[in-house]
Amino acid sequence: MSSQKILIFFIIATIFEFIMVLILNLLNLNQVKKNTVIPDRYKDKLTEDTFSKSRKYTIAKLKFTFLYEGYDLLLLLGFIFINGFCYLENLVLRITNIETVQAVLFCFTLSFAKEILDLPFSLYQTFVMEEKYGFNKMTIGLYFLDLFKKIVLTVIFGAPILMFLFWVIRAAGSLWWLYGFIGVSVFQIMILVIYPTWIAPLFNKFIPMEKGELKDAIFKIAQDVNFKISEIFVMDGSKRSSHSNAYFTGLGKNRRIVLFDTLINQLSKDELVSVLAHEMGHNKLKHIQKMLILSLLLMLIFFYGLSLLLFYPNLYQAFGLSGQNIFPALVIFSLIISPLSFFISPLLNILSRKHEYEADHFASKASNTGKYLQSALLKLNEKNLSNLTPHPLYSFFYYSHPTLEERLNALEKY
Ligand code: ZN
Repeated sequence: MSSQKILIFFIIATIFEFIMVLILNLLNLNQVKKNTVIPDRYKDKLTEDTFSKSRKYTIAKLKFTFLYEGYDLLLLLGFIFINGFCYLENLVLRITNIETVQAVLFCFTLSFAKEILDLPFSLYQTFVMEEKYGFNKMTIGLYFLDLFKKIVLTVIFGAPILMFLFWVIRAAGSLWWLYGFIGVSVFQIMILVIYPTWIAPLFNKFIPMEKGELKDAIFKIAQDVNFKISEIFVMDGSKRSSHSNAYFTGLGKNRRIVLFDTLINQLSKDELVSVLAHEMGHNKLKHIQKMLILSLLLMLIFFYGLSLLLFYPNLYQAFGLSGQNIFPALVIFSLIISPLSFFISPLLNILSRKHEYEADHFASKASNTGKYLQSALLKLNEKNLSNLTPHPLYSFFYYSHPTLEERLNALEKY
């Protein structure tokens, strides 16, 4: 295919993806605007005020998405048309002739530039939108400190991976994608293992839960479902936002149950136990491992696809590059498959929602906590001002969790 055709094809696919996003968001926006009264089943559980607030919050978030997506598209197309990739390639070539370093410079310059260009939007999101609805607890100082830490971590972990990959491409011959995959997988699993003890504490404090009724109740349910825990950690989520959560992290011996302090303040003891029974369900049913295997499989396909196109000059020339260097490969390949990955993401969400149902089922079976889980879900929905009436197509596409209604219905059946 000529480079011109590749570019036209890419632009059509990208605009098509943009239109799809627009349609999904519009459908959802209309749905929220249309539903001005609380659905019957929530009438005695939610106040009129909460409902109207959650509608406004949802509408604000959707409008923000329209703006951001449009900006993002213009930025990308604008960069291609001013021949940005070509300038960057030449700049990198002038700095060094070591290919592994060239790859790092090319990728990181682009991703840092994007980070800076996105800054007005992310600042607005945190300090205007989230602030307005009372969620933001972050200071400007903390925001930039977080950003700085993230950039440093990206360099520390990202640069060696990139350099390894471009080294393998040259050193391993036609099967590089397989060796590359094995190397990067090992690296990724290593990061997962060290995440709870080395990375997460850079951003938050994790304090072992105080002795007391709640801790006893959690250990009791863990025993009931035959789940080994040594410690439960409370995280100072309230430092950044009043949104609440509980999660499991890490692999093997390093795995941890983490509860946000905000969650502890929002739920009763029985509700918290039911949420943790749900989290234990994820672990018992090996959901983390299944998702990990799936993401590794996708990475293998990505590398294989990359290996097919790696030495195809037209692909690079389509984006204004010379076609004589392969160091821009990762960026270019990610760009051309991004419309494709947009359509793969709902498949991953289907699987994730299936896991949520299974974990809910597990929790309700485990100790008859179904009723508490229901009230916990309702409260969380209320505190986080989640949309009560998403459009079915929107939730199908974007939701990693079933909607509140779907989960309550399922819990009633169990
Ligand atoms: Zn879950």
